[in-house]
Amino acid sequence: VLDALDDPETIVLAQIAPSIRTAWGEEFGLDAEEASVQRLASCLKEMGFDYVFDTDFAADLTIMEEASEFLHKLTHQEGDFPMFTSCCPGWVRFIKSHYPEYIPQVSTSKSPQQMFGAIAKSYYADILKVSPKKIFSVSIMPCLAKKAECSYPNMTDSEGNVDVDVALTTREVNRLIRAMHISPKKMKDVELDMPLGLGSGAGNIFGATGGVMEAALRSAYYLATGENPDPDAFKDVRGMDGWKESTFDIAGNKLKIAVVNGLANADRLLTALKKGQVHYDFVEVMACPGGCVGGGGQPIHDQKEMAAHRAPVLYKQDREGTLRFCHENPSIKLVYQDYLEKPLSERAEELLHTSQKGWLMPGESE
Ligand code: SF4
Repeated sequence: VLDALDDPETIVLAQIAPSIRTAWGEEFGLDAEEASVQRLASCLKEMGFDYVFDTDFAADLTIMEEASEFLHKLTHQEGDFPMFTSCCPGWVRFIKSHYPEYIPQVSTSKSPQQMFGAIAKSYYADILKVSPKKIFSVSIMPCLAKKAECSYPNMTDSEGNVDVDVALTTREVNRLIRAMHISPKKMKDVELDMPLGLGSGAGNIFGATGGVMEAALRSAYYLATGENPDPDAFKDVRGMDGWKESTFDIAGNKLKIAVVNGLANADRLLTALKKGQVHYDFVEVMACPGGCVGGGGQPIHDQKEMAAHRAPVLYKQDREGTLRFCHENPSIKLVYQDYLEKPLSERAEELLHTSQKGWLMPGESE
């Protein structure tokens, strides 16, 4: 990252994951209001990043693709249910190693980190009128699993350009801030760059367990009925319980969904599924207890788990914002209108979807 920042020929851009805004400032004594994504953007610009964007944008994009994929599967009764979310690489690795027979049921949608990278080196490279090779794409993420994910061989475009060059954890970014003698308390907020710097509240809650499911249901409801639901209609999926389930009616379909966090809970759910003890249509899994707000790359407080303290910040930001649906994000509308055409289009499939068979576990053969 430092080499890229030093190279005047390289365009260095950053994306900041939803869960970072609740956590990065803890090591600097900033409260939740002060530890804004805009304040972190200001630190990154001071370091020399050319553009700073929001992974919330790509979380919205993930929902557009994943909710459309789910509705397509439901309408055509294609394949087996439940469909599993795919945005947590810790979970994807777990299911590949422990329950590989369920891999075809994992969503083909890439995670927000990877979708962001793919769009930055295609759509945004076109906006800048530069080759994707000139762009060095850095993601700021809550865990090490995100580093593994961006190194998988299927996370590239057709010419082999990687979606994301480097993933840094929250603690690593904080070390960079200290190494460059930047004092976040003294920095002034700066607005994120556009159009990839705008995300909805639904994208923002991706950082907490249940957030992906809630965001997906808000948009699936709209895509199926043409009308927005009450944005809080699916709030039953919130909270720190390890295994939650609920039933919702969407356009006459009674959907049974489950949300689990922590891999021990994922193991219990898959065992129950295999034994036929439970049935679900859609399941969200996050490897870390509490979701990404509890990620292993986040600031550490000895003897204290922080996920339950960080998640309410994301929900408050969603509640107080004016943009609460992924499909209403003007930047999302723009990228479909100007570039992707519609969810699941040929270009969207090429850039934003992948197969979890596209990378191998150690010792696994094709
Ligand atoms: Fe990473 Fe944990 Fe979030 Fe999964 S839940 S993406 S392992 S921080």
